[in-house]
Amino acid sequence: MHEEILKNFREFIRKKGLKYTSEREEILEEILSIHGHFDVEELYQRLRQKNKKISKPSIYRSIPLFIEAGYIQEVYRQDGHSHYEVMINKAPHLHFLCLRCGKVEEIIDPELERLIRTKEAEKGFKLLTHHLESFGICETCQKAETTTLDMVEKGKVVEVLDLPTDVMCKKLIAMGLRKGELLKVLQVCGRTILVEIGNSRIVINKELASKIPVKIVRTEKVTEDLPCELINGEEALQEPCPLKDKDDACQIKDEKGCPRNFLIKLLSKL
Ligand SMILES: [Zn+2]
Ligand SMILES: [Zn+2]
Ligand SMILES: [Zn+2]
Repeated sequence: MHEEILKNFREFIRKKGLKYTSEREEILEEILSIHGHFDVEELYQRLRQKNKKISKPSIYRSIPLFIEAGYIQEVYRQDGHSHYEVMINKAPHLHFLCLRCGKVEEIIDPELERLIRTKEAEKGFKLLTHHLESFGICETCQKAETTTLDMVEKGKVVEVLDLPTDVMCKKLIAMGLRKGELLKVLQVCGRTILVEIGNSRIVINKELASKIPVKIVRTEKVTEDLPCELINGEEALQEPCPLKDKDDACQIKDEKGCPRNFLIKLLSKL
């Protein structure tokens, strides 16, 4: 089936001054029957299923030869090992690599091939191999990053995807919360969540937060550790700031300096 290639390979081996082994050809034949991407483990398992007694070290030793001969190429590395693909009779194609889960998708499009061929002719360049990779986040991983505000952990910066039109949400809108706005979760307490939007901080109860779809954008460090009693307890609002004397921020005359004062202001607005 791959007679021509095997003949060519024998010639390649001879020119390199290496000894002929049937083992190498068996590995190559197996590789030529693989359509997608593969790694050494996969190749080893395929050979084993066919009762071919070929060791993993033999496979590892053969691969550089196949690469040199131009039969295969390394397409990407994942979990500390390489993945390869057969280059013979394969049209130039693009790889979409997901940075989250490592999934690789092949983009095969005649349009792409045509463009490459045109450029090849324009530049008077003789193309031998192709290596086209684009990195990003796949659809599944993007969906996994979409959640509701009540589920978001402290320190996450999220984008508000939508705001339901209920009364409480209208209050939030009045306080500066908008669709498309980025907010940072400063603290998560039992029934409430403290978020920062620009220079404002808002306490939102989780029931309301569960109606707000968000997308996690990044993680940031939260330097202050605001106590939940302070965020939750209305009674606490009647007492002097518990952080006074303990917290440098409270020494600042600016009202924003004391996280408690700041909270009171916002809580009273709600
Ligand atoms: Zn690569
Ligand atoms: Zn992914
Ligand atoms: Zn590929």
